[in-house]
Amino acid sequence: MRTVLITGASSGIGESCALELAKENKYRFLLCARRVEKLEELTQKIKTINPNSEIHTFKLDVRNSEEVETTLSNLPEEWKNIDILINNAGLSQGLDAIQDGQIGDWDRMIDTNVKGLLYVTKYVIPMMAGSEQAHIINLGSIAGKEVYPNGNVYCATKHAVDALTKAMRIDLLSKGIKVTSIDPGMVETEFSEVRFHGDKDRAKSVYHGLTPLTGQDIAEIVSFVLSRPKHVNINDLLVMPTAQA
Ligand code: NDP
Repeated sequence: MRTVLITGASSGIGESCALELAKENKYRFLLCARRVEKLEELTQKIKTINPNSEIHTFKLDVRNSEEVETTLSNLPEEWKNIDILINNAGLSQGLDAIQDGQIGDWDRMIDTNVKGLLYVTKYVIPMMAGSEQAHIINLGSIAGKEVYPNGNVYCATKHAVDALTKAMRIDLLSKGIKVTSIDPGMVETEFSEVRFHGDKDRAKSVYHGLTPLTGQDIAEIVSFVLSRPKHVNINDLLVMPTAQA
């Protein structure tokens, strides 16, 4: 059994990854997010798929470095060895021109997408020491490869994730830890609603004229990436809805 830690497991891509990997009977799950009640619901869904799944859920705000350090170091003994980290927690907030942007939105995106990813990675790497199949998967984005109108700060955070993924791959080579970036285009999750501060109509309008990806589409790719033999690493995978330019 490989132990997988998924950040932002309470919805969207993170939740789908847990549900997809649960089908395989090869993984045990550390699931975290801020909304613990959602993690309890996910636990029940996983148990329906695979009643024998081992699952430990916990509350974690990745933006708080002290909370990340304390929570991870206080995990129960049987959960202190981690094979796989899926750095998935992230958000876009506001879709405004730079001159109209809100500082609070910028802070939340930078603190979560960049600093949060760094904090979790820092404290998980020592927990991978005994693993034969250590792997870090970062959720990047097409926004880490290009910049689109009003995407400014979100794009900057995902460009940072792209750079950090490459840097981690170099720095962790000596430890035998694989590092992969998965970079989706539009995926229909709570993401769009969070971006527009809960405005459901505006959130929905983003998908007008195209069929977006689903969390399941990304989860199947994560499962494939994790199933490659030890000597094969998929460095970077860009996956787009067919109709997205
Ligand atoms: P969701 O909004 O559905 O999920 C985001 C997850 O991140 C939630 O589980 C949320 O949990 C968690 N999260 C947010 N802030 C924090 C925090 N401070 N601490 C801990 N967890 C946090 O969106 P997606 O599933 O779509 O997004 C997942 C990842 O995929 C993100 O990194 C996003 O940037 C990336 N992505 C998404 C795309 C899309 O179109 N949807 C496209 C490309 C990339 P909670 O609120 O309970 O803490």
